[in-house]
Amino acid sequence: MKDIKDLDPRELERVLSGWREPAFRAAQVFLWIYKKGAVDFEAMSNLPSGLRQRLKENFRVLSSKLVKRLKSSDGTEKFLFGLEDKNYIEAVIIPAKGRITGCVSTQAGCKFCCRFCASGVSGFRRNLTAREIIEEILYLRNNSSGKKLSHLVFMGTGEPLDNYDNVLKAIRFVNSPDTFNIGARKITISTSGVIPGIKKLAREGLQIELSVSLHAADEKTRSTIMPVNKIYPLKDLIAACREYIGKTNRQVTFEYILIKDMNSGLKNAQKLSKILTGMNCKVNIIPCNVIEELEVYPPEKKEILSFKDHLSRSGINVTLRRPRGADIEAACGQLRMRYEKKL
Ligand code: SF4
Repeated sequence: MKDIKDLDPRELERVLSGWREPAFRAAQVFLWIYKKGAVDFEAMSNLPSGLRQRLKENFRVLSSKLVKRLKSSDGTEKFLFGLEDKNYIEAVIIPAKGRITGCVSTQAGCKFCCRFCASGVSGFRRNLTAREIIEEILYLRNNSSGKKLSHLVFMGTGEPLDNYDNVLKAIRFVNSPDTFNIGARKITISTSGVIPGIKKLAREGLQIELSVSLHAADEKTRSTIMPVNKIYPLKDLIAACREYIGKTNRQVTFEYILIKDMNSGLKNAQKLSKILTGMNCKVNIIPCNVIEELEVYPPEKKEILSFKDHLSRSGINVTLRRPRGADIEAACGQLRMRYEKKL
């Protein structure tokens, strides 16, 4: 049985015309799935019953199963999905003032093994297909209490630029007025610093946001926290970001997770402000979630504030973000890791 999310409206029109159905039926099916959240062809009440039956016999809307759903006291909701091949992936809804953000995974597992992240612990399994990424978004949209998913971040398990083609296909799909119609400027790709992907993205002509995980401002510390730095060193990464800004005329966001006794001291803030001088960028600093399995803990409040103050005084646009969903295993990959341990 085929998955209907593999088709764009024109492709579905072609299938339906082969069944001697008028072209407008494709638009009706898209409306039901992507605007009204129907996951069952039987619910598509303005389609003739014969067509509903034929769609049912040939296509499915969903291929994964929701296996766990956790809601935090701060409103963040985390979902664990089981894929057809028994891999598990996470996606998150993050409500905030005036916006609902969906955070999705792009790979099952991750090969990048960042020090603060549970996603790489059980290794890399495989890339997600564009359809599987779209399905995460469909689940999130259908579970956002009737509110529109306004923003989308590719910040869940996996490195989006390591699954470039599927991620770009999914972005173009959800950006379309025929589907979720999420504006490009409200879509963020978050990378651990895969330089060839950043260079390729700069040539796409997309208005999406780029967020780069730095988490350290010198080569040695960054290689300890993010092994990807041994392949794509900080110096080259910063140069690639400057090039990206020059080519796209868009600001880059740098993410900096503060980890106690690792990257949160004033010296680190001084190094960070030095390498970002003169760049059209902003910095999000976020105290890490506690991950006992990885012995990762956030620094004291005083240290966090002093880090932020130094960046502000150096003229850097900096925001202190609070970690979300700390009571629901919100660190990337944590829910999946604990669930798989129990299997
Ligand atoms: S932070 Fe991202 S790139 Fe790093 S291990 Fe986790 S999922 Fe992979």
